[in-house]
Amino acid sequence: MVAPEGHVEGPYRTRRFTVLAGEPTTETEVREHGLVFRVDLAEVYFSARLSTERQRLAGLVEPGERVLDMFAGAGPFALTLARAARFVAASDINPAAVGAMIENCRRNRITNVLPVLADAARLPSVFTRPFDHVVMNLPLSPLPFLPAAFSLCRPGGTIHLYHLQSAEGEALPALAPFPVADVVEHRVRSYSPGRWHAAYDILAGPGTAP
Ligand code: SAM
Repeated sequence: MVAPEGHVEGPYRTRRFTVLAGEPTTETEVREHGLVFRVDLAEVYFSARLSTERQRLAGLVEPGERVLDMFAGAGPFALTLARAARFVAASDINPAAVGAMIENCRRNRITNVLPVLADAARLPSVFTRPFDHVVMNLPLSPLPFLPAAFSLCRPGGTIHLYHLQSAEGEALPALAPFPVADVVEHRVRSYSPGRWHAAYDILAGPGTAP
C-alpha cells in the first residue's frame, strides 16, 4: 500500500509516494465505465476524479468526428472519446505515458487512437487537417498552447480547455486574440481551498489564430 506525498509536480505532472505496507508498487489498474487503465502512478499522471468529466465530453462527441487530446497521459480521455469518435490523436511529452496509452489501447481492444510522443506545441506541424474537438487537460499551464489548439480546431469545432483558477472567468482574457464564437465555463472539481479546475468549452469561430 502506498500513499501520495503532496500535489502533482514536474513537467509530467506525477507524484511521489510513500510505501505504507505490503508490496512497494505504484502500479495500479483502474476500471472506469467499461474501460481498464493500467498506470504506474509514479511515472504517469492519472485521476479517477475526472471520470464524470470524461463522460460529459463523450456525450458531446458525434460519430464520425475527429478528436485531438493534446495532453493525453495514459489515455483516459482519449480512450473514452474513442468509443464515440471516428478517430482520436493523443499526444504526450512523457514517454512512459505514451507507453501506458499504447498498452491501454491493446487491453481495451481500441484501434482508433493514434498515440503520439510529442510536445503539444509542435502538433500543428504534425497534423494538417483540423479536428472537431481539441482536449487540453494541462490545468496548471494550458494557455501557452492556445495557438496550437486554435490552429488544430476547425471553425465550428470545440476546444475543451481545463484551467486551475481562483476566480470565475480567469482564462477569458487569454482567449481575446483568438476566433471564439462562444464559451461555456463550468467547475469540474476543487483543487485546494479557493482554487478549482474549470472547464471552458470554446466554440471556435471563423478566422485564423494569430
Ligand atoms: N489527460 C490525462 C489524464 O486526464 O489523465 C493527463 C493529464 S496530466 C494533468 C497532463 C499531461 O500533459 C501529463 O501526462 C504530461 O506529461 C503532459 N504534458 C505536459 N507538458 C506537455 C507538452 N508540452 N506536450 C504534451 N504533453 C505534455
